[in-house]
Amino acid sequence: MPVSSAYQPDPQFFGLGPEFGDPVQAVDFPMHRLVWRDQRAAESVGLETLSDDEWVAHFGRFETLPNMAQPPVAMRYHGHQFRTYNPQLGDGRGFLFGQLRDQKGRLLDLGTKGSGQTPWSRQGDGRLTLKGGVREVLAARMLEAQGVPTSKALSLIETGENLIRSDEPSPTRSAVLVRLQHSHVRFGTFQRHAFLDAPERLTALVDHCAAVYYPHLQALDGPERAAGLVRDVALATADMVAGWMAAGFVHGVLNTDNMNVTGESFDYGPWRFLPVADGNFTAAYFDQTGLYAYGRQPEAGLWNLKQLAGALTPIGELDSLTEAVRAYPPAFAQAQQAALLRRLGLQFAAEPDDNRTMLDAMFAFMARSGVSWDGFFHDWFGGLVSEARALAGPRADDYKGEDFEAWFKWLDRFQPERPDRLSHPYFQGAEPVSLVIEEVEALWAKIAEDDDWSGFHQKLADITSLREALAEGCSG
Ligand code: AMP
Ligand code: MG
Repeated sequence: MPVSSAYQPDPQFFGLGPEFGDPVQAVDFPMHRLVWRDQRAAESVGLETLSDDEWVAHFGRFETLPNMAQPPVAMRYHGHQFRTYNPQLGDGRGFLFGQLRDQKGRLLDLGTKGSGQTPWSRQGDGRLTLKGGVREVLAARMLEAQGVPTSKALSLIETGENLIRSDEPSPTRSAVLVRLQHSHVRFGTFQRHAFLDAPERLTALVDHCAAVYYPHLQALDGPERAAGLVRDVALATADMVAGWMAAGFVHGVLNTDNMNVTGESFDYGPWRFLPVADGNFTAAYFDQTGLYAYGRQPEAGLWNLKQLAGALTPIGELDSLTEAVRAYPPAFAQAQQAALLRRLGLQFAAEPDDNRTMLDAMFAFMARSGVSWDGFFHDWFGGLVSEARALAGPRADDYKGEDFEAWFKWLDRFQPERPDRLSHPYFQGAEPVSLVIEEVEALWAKIAEDDDWSGFHQKLADITSLREALAEGCSG
């Protein structure tokens, strides 16, 4: 069956003109084997009715979707990589395939990864490894389950090529991924037009983002609109980074080309989830200084926002841009508390200071005891109502001593949020679903060695159970 009646193409970005993207074509792959289609995400944009053959035609061979822009474009951008400016970036292995509205009327991009070379590939082959694709599906699902703003891996298709990579045993299998996210306009997209001294294009891009993503900004003019955009992006970024901190997610490569205007986690590369509380935990082997370590992610968000504001100085006012960036630290502090309390299944305490005090004591206990990050949140979901369960569970031995008591004594100031969720079967299990590196490597090893996908599918089913457990009883 073709697309459903909910399908609403709206290729907005393509209208910005040739300075924003270059027409490209996908490579002709030797094989197309459908590995994953996110049927839930597909439903949100009217693509759930595609047969598997039609799906592969659009997301493996990139035949144009009905009434969609043609051809797709590799987006142009620059960016700071590990704080060094690189004017040679751009979509080197992906493109914007189309844009469409979801059921709520919000615009979504269909962005590819691994679809072949583009004018921005430099020395790269334009490809994605199957392992990279599998990792992106898992990480995005895990963050989505925990309510963290993220792109969704809509489609993963194995493509039958052999790739050479320094960070995987090679040759390694290839794949092409399509992700859905609200925008692929990066901080680095603005940086490019600032670097090339093109204020009219900066204005066009700000106007585009205001019209499509932040319509209330249209009431502002010129410099105020630019500052308003920075402020809105700062708030969205604060929410996203706060979500990572509660999930124990370490993105790994927080360059300015990997942060977008709608504040969604994307471009999953060497990400990891924390095994235990550790501010210095680093995901990427090439991040030797720990620049993007778990505990430095909030600061990386701020640094990147400063670059975004800096890029807008040709069309903005320094004072109001600076002021806009200043919205980030307090918004992050508040969002981090909210995200951690949400992860604990607790309401804010009546006395505002108690929130910070309890959460600081919690992190101190977790770091010193080395208790499993995910295990701790699983055991103590709902706070005191879970005391008996936590103390009877596999981590009971961790829950004693001075550091533990220093945290535990605050708990009676916190009420559970929707404790009915504890009756979900997910919380009857002693172990949480987690995605620490050993688990990811183990499920990948089964695929690599025996083409056995059972571990991958089991993990996705467990993540779905987590999502349902956390959402149960809530209207959204
Ligand atoms: P990333 O670290 O994925 O954000 O990528 C940084 C830059 O390198 C972007 O311009 C990518 O498009 C490009 N890139 C990464 N991997 C490849 C590849 N295999 N082939 C071509 N370009 C790539
Ligand atoms: Mg990138």
